Amino acid sequence: MRVTCPHCGSKAIITSRENVADNVSELYCSCSNTKECGATFVTSLAFKHYLNPPRGDTAQLAASLIKNLPNNIQLDLLGL
Ligand SMILES: [Zn+2]
Repeated sequence: MRVTCPHCGSKAIITSRENVADNVSELYCSCSNTKECGATFVTSLAFKHYLNPPRGDTAQLAASLIKNLPNNIQLDLLGL
């Protein structure tokens, strides 16, 4: 992950991280362009949503859906 300085656009270094909520962190950053800028700033990093759910979640979801179907349809889906 690359963080850039909001002032000069140079690469910034993450100096520390503070978790402020579940899946939300504040990144304390320092601009690497020390001669011309030298800004330090805080930026946020947050989880937004899955593009694909974790494999375990998919299997659990499929199992719970199948369990709610009538037995004959469950057997049909399983090829039995
Ligand atoms: Zn800068």
